[in-house]
Amino acid sequence: MSLPSSLAVPKSDLRLFPPALQAYQERARTNEETALEMEIVSTYPDVEYKLVRDIAALFGFDFFCVSYSGTFPGFTDRHSIFVKNIERGSPDFRPVWTGAHELCHLFENAAHLHLPALTALKQLVSDDAWEKRRAIEDNDVETDFRAMFDGGPEVEIDRSTQRQAYVWNEVIADCYASMWADPSFWDGLKSCHPNLERAQDFVAVIERLSAASRVTPVISYPSRTWYPAENREKVRVIMTQMTAAYLSPT
Ligand SMILES: [Zn+2]
Repeated sequence: MSLPSSLAVPKSDLRLFPPALQAYQERARTNEETALEMEIVSTYPDVEYKLVRDIAALFGFDFFCVSYSGTFPGFTDRHSIFVKNIERGSPDFRPVWTGAHELCHLFENAAHLHLPALTALKQLVSDDAWEKRRAIEDNDVETDFRAMFDGGPEVEIDRSTQRQAYVWNEVIADCYASMWADPSFWDGLKSCHPNLERAQDFVAVIERLSAASRVTPVISYPSRTWYPAENREKVRVIMTQMTAAYLSPT
């Protein structure tokens, strides 16, 4: 039985992958890191991957579903998002969450939008959010990145300004990641910028996410919600405004 054609990776993406991989390898070489060996899949393991790919495209980012050793679920490079090929049913299967998390990292390149959002978010997260996120990051470094980077980074509490910013970028990316499965985020995005070019594309995203959720709920990652429930609406507004500003540069 052949797979539905909707799960085939677009040929244009397959063509984009080699130069994206080369750019990633060059950057790794420059930073004296060991580049990850990875392969792009030709068929998405699940419809959620195709959905994330199409959302990323709305933002002008490339998306690749790739196979690699290592347990971390995704990463970014320049304007590319790489998400690990994981089958539905695996405990790590959450492509929508991971895709949104990684896309938020690409917003870091638009610091004039990302930094104000982060500053506002810091007022809304729990007091121990940074510390708890740092512990997760250190654990990830221990299990995965030590093998990936030459020599392995030191796993210790690094409170340097650079390290603080790094962990905060993970906090905001986690907060952002929970938004995509929430229709009110997409509705808010649309109403925030009613004249947004391609607003209809976002309407389609909401509909497709809702349809996907009706079949099987889009799996989020509740343990990485770093703000109290009563702040969710305020967090959503910050994330919506950052996204809308990114999509509608003035
Ligand atoms: Zn991250």
